[in-house]
Amino acid sequence: MAANSPFDCVLLDLDDTLYPGNTGLGPALKRNIDEFLQAKLGVSAERAAAMRVELFRTHGSSLAGLIVLGYDVHPDEYHSYVHGRLPYDRIAADPQLARLLQSIPQRKVLFTNSDRAHMKRALERLGVDEAVFDAVVCFETMNPHLFGEEGRRAAAAGTAPPAVVLKPAVDAIGAGLRAAGTNPRRTLFLDDSERNIAAGKALGLRTALVGKRVRSKGADYALESIGALRRVIPEIWGAAAAAAGDGSERSDHGIDKMPMRSDLDSIIQPTSIQA
Ligand SMILES: [Mg+2]
Repeated sequence: MAANSPFDCVLLDLDDTLYPGNTGLGPALKRNIDEFLQAKLGVSAERAAAMRVELFRTHGSSLAGLIVLGYDVHPDEYHSYVHGRLPYDRIAADPQLARLLQSIPQRKVLFTNSDRAHMKRALERLGVDEAVFDAVVCFETMNPHLFGEEGRRAAAAGTAPPAVVLKPAVDAIGAGLRAAGTNPRRTLFLDDSERNIAAGKALGLRTALVGKRVRSKGADYALESIGALRRVIPEIWGAAAAAAGDGSERSDHGIDKMPMRSDLDSIIQPTSIQA
């Protein structure tokens, strides 16, 4: 553990956080969801796109919406269709990211709404060993009730389908906090989603919005890319690292001094995934 660091654990989102938001995976994901809705529900392309937006807005994801509305969709069927066909070759290997993650002295938890198969493929493309994380919280771990006997019993009994647990829901953030195993105020949460960041802040986490130039509501930090982590939040590595500096413009990023400056090293212009 880093001496005098204000953090005991770092929670890291995966998609558009550990890799840039401009890979094209986001638009591909939306197309795959639209095609899934067309095939599954027999609706037009226009209707499918409108449904995707509405399901995301109301239920947090298209899958969550379909399950809550009572459609017979198994998460594995959905994920293999919408994630399994993504152009993963657009995620580039990132040796610097692998080294950065290894250098973080705190407990590290990968905290993603995505399914395990997608997580493994994305990490493989990045060249990041899953073992660098002390724990993984993903779709399956947040939603065991959708896979085991409980889900099958509910389906057989025709009772109300269980809700899907995803960030930014309180239950999902709670799953991340349990995996962190420490005080929320000593846990740093990195995510590219403004609503996830706001939810994390509401539950007491320290928060860093990734992929944006300016902080959103509830974000203690903003960094344009994960590659700027050491410069924007040197406190992770402890007081010595924070005091030493690295010759960049950073000078006063105390825990409550919220950096608003853009990461000048980055030219990434991320897009947001609203799927
Ligand atoms: Mg994300």
